[in-house]
Amino acid sequence: MRVDVVTIFPDYLAPLQLSLVGKAREAGLIDVAVHDLREWATDRHRTVDDTPYGGGAGMVMKPDVWGAALDTITVKPGEGKGAADARPHLVVPTPAGEPFTQARAAELSADSWLIFACGRYEGIDARVVADARTRMRVSELSIGDYVLNGGEVAALVMIEAIVRLIPGVIGNPESLAEESHGPDGLLEYPVYTKPPSWRGQDVPEILLSGHHAKVARWRRDEALRLTARRRPDLLARLGDDALDARDREV
Ligand code: SAM
Repeated sequence: MRVDVVTIFPDYLAPLQLSLVGKAREAGLIDVAVHDLREWATDRHRTVDDTPYGGGAGMVMKPDVWGAALDTITVKPGEGKGAADARPHLVVPTPAGEPFTQARAAELSADSWLIFACGRYEGIDARVVADARTRMRVSELSIGDYVLNGGEVAALVMIEAIVRLIPGVIGNPESLAEESHGPDGLLEYPVYTKPPSWRGQDVPEILLSGHHAKVARWRRDEALRLTARRRPDLLARLGDDALDARDREV
C-alpha cells in the first residue's frame, strides 16, 4: 500500500516511523510519503489560507494550493511513483465526516493507495473535495464527535488502525479476530498475565484451569457483560442470530 499525507506540519507525522507502522515500512508492506502543503504555495510567504467568503471567524485553506498538491501527488501511473495499477483514494479527516469505524478501517486496508489531506483552521475550501471526486474516490471521515486543531492526529489514528489490518503487519493474525469491534461485534473480555495474584487481586480461576471450552465460555460471557454495560448500542446492532440461548442468559 502507498500512503501519502499532505499537511502543513510534516513533523506531526513523525510517529509513522515508529512501532508497527514503522516496521511495516521497513518490511516494504507500506510506502509512506509525507508532503508539506506549503511546497505548493506560490507567494513569498507560502500562504495556504485566506479569509472565509460570507464572513466569520477563522481562515479557510486555499483551493488552488490544495489542487496543485493533489495534482502533483496523483500524477498518472507511470509518470510518478504510484504502482501502475494503483488508484488513489483520498481520505479527508473532518469532524463533519462519516464515522471512522473498524469496518471502514478494514475496507481501507484493501486499498492500494491512500492520500490523507490534513486540514487546519476552519478546514479546506469545499471545492477541493468536489473537484477530487471527479477524478478519484473520496471519503470524508471523522474519528469522533469532538473537534481537533488539525487533521494530522486524525490521520495518524486512521493510518494505524488501517495498517495493522494489512496481511503480514501483525505477526499473529488470530489476535485481530479476538478483539473489540471484531467479527463478533462485542468488546473484548478482560485480559490477565502473570503473576496470578497481585495487590490482593487474583486472576479468575477458570483462566488457570487449562480447560479450553470453559475458558472460551467465560470470555464470551465477560465480553457480553462488558458490552451490555458500556456499549449497549453495539449489542442492539447485532443480528438476530448473533446471540444463542446461552448468550441471552448472561
Ligand atoms: N470548522 C470545522 C468544523 O466545524 O467542522 C472544524 C475544523 S478543525 C478546527 C480543523 C481540522 O481538524 C479539520 O479540517 C480536520 O482536518 C481536523 N479535525 C478536527 N476534528 C476532527 C475529527 N473529529 N475527525 C477528523 N478530523 C478532525
